[in-house]
Amino acid sequence: LTIPDFSAFTAEVAALFEHSLERRDGTLANYIPQLARVDPEHFAVAICTADGQMFSIGDANLDFSVQSCAKPLIYSLALEEHGAELVHRYIGREPSGRGFNELSLDPDGKPHNPMINSGAIMACALLQRGQDIADRFEFVLDSFRRLAGGRKVGFSNAVYLSERRSADRNFALGYLMREHKAFPDNTQLIETLEFYLQCCSVEANAEVMAVIAATLANAGVCPTTGLRQLEPATVQNCLSLMSSCGMYDFSGEFAFTVGLPAKSGVSGAIIGVVPNVLGFCCWSPRLDEHGNSVRGLDFCRRLVEAYNFHAFDNL
Ligand code: GLN
Repeated sequence: LTIPDFSAFTAEVAALFEHSLERRDGTLANYIPQLARVDPEHFAVAICTADGQMFSIGDANLDFSVQSCAKPLIYSLALEEHGAELVHRYIGREPSGRGFNELSLDPDGKPHNPMINSGAIMACALLQRGQDIADRFEFVLDSFRRLAGGRKVGFSNAVYLSERRSADRNFALGYLMREHKAFPDNTQLIETLEFYLQCCSVEANAEVMAVIAATLANAGVCPTTGLRQLEPATVQNCLSLMSSCGMYDFSGEFAFTVGLPAKSGVSGAIIGVVPNVLGFCCWSPRLDEHGNSVRGLDFCRRLVEAYNFHAFDNL
């Protein structure tokens, strides 16, 4: 077993959860009503080990929109379809050092990396290009479900409609990239932007996201089904960029202090990966000044402190 004394481990995780629960600072995302209206007290932690043992506590069965937590998955799907060489003709792999939706491109006129909006929009442009847009979205949903071992992955049309109505910055990013001829030929810009916003509006709960994180921890084989969903090379690339770019403008600090590949979203979700050991998801809607969940980040710090999970703890 990956974690032999799982009941001792889960008791400790429950204690860490209670500590993080005490944090009441931070503010809800308020750029759309569907996020502003969420109960700020929600908190969930779910863990799935690389061999499929599961534990969750708190509001782990409540759905939230995955928002930017979709980005590593979209990137992985683009890698599976096209290979890293082609994908990185269109998307860089350098932290931007700027906000996740900052109107800027790298010196080659490409999005800096796939973990920020511009790069995720580009990854969406690359997915299933020959297909009808409905089939492309269905492909993403089905892929997320497969990564989650067949668990329920949904879609919030209310979130999508709000995203669509307040998407000026994402549209600006799209036009900026088109101006720089960054897209592959024959990209439908509006359709691509809507596709990206639909991916942000996918809904799942913490347990489902923990299984997806565990599939990454397990080099692409979903621990609950034993089925390979991603190639190891894909997961390696994805985890590398989650490590350097996954936590907004806090990515460098997070790599230093927590030392795990992770991705956060504006709904207050964080997925994290301890390679070969486990995947986890925290969800609590109050965000700090960088846009990361206050309780989620607090939990990540405590988890690494308690278990030496930092990438360099074994030196
Ligand atoms: N829908 C949001 C956007 O595109 C997602 C961003 C996020 O989670 N950081 O701006």
